[in-house]
Amino acid sequence: MMTSGDVESPFAMPGHDHASCIMTALDGAEAICARRGERLTPLRRRVLELVWRGHSPVGAYDILALLQSERGRVAPPTVYRALEFLCRQGLVHRLDSLQAFIGCGQPGNDGDGRHAAHFLICQDCGTAVEVRDGQLDGAISRLAGRTGFAIADETIELSGLCAACQS
Ligand SMILES: [Zn+2]
Ligand SMILES: [Zn+2]
Ligand SMILES: [Zn+2]
Repeated sequence: MMTSGDVESPFAMPGHDHASCIMTALDGAEAICARRGERLTPLRRRVLELVWRGHSPVGAYDILALLQSERGRVAPPTVYRALEFLCRQGLVHRLDSLQAFIGCGQPGNDGDGRHAAHFLICQDCGTAVEVRDGQLDGAISRLAGRTGFAIADETIELSGLCAACQS
């Protein structure tokens, strides 16, 4: 049984400089797209930047509204296509439970650009944190092996309250 003293919450981001989160994400995206021969157009780049506004998932409509406030008329399919591209490249994850998008903090580490995405989502502060757990990965691949199931897409979304929001 863990006491609260043992909790190392991934939600706590001490001394957090979010401008550098955004910069890292954009630089990483440029490098990944260049390596794959994909084009990170100015629009795709701006959409990625808007997804990275914070560490809370952002809806497509919010992104559309922000773009429209900057550029005037922007057709919704333009935004959907940009988001689809970013998801396909593994730069952004779609969270089905919220119908929203969040930037990936570790893109490009996997061959085809997509990786299993496991998220803890706080229902109070709205922060979503991508976590990696070797034991969970192992359990899922054992399950797939045992059932002969070929996993095409793996996203796990756990909703609840982060450590800070519980107090
Ligand atoms: Zn940040
Ligand atoms: Zn990711
Ligand atoms: Zn919270």
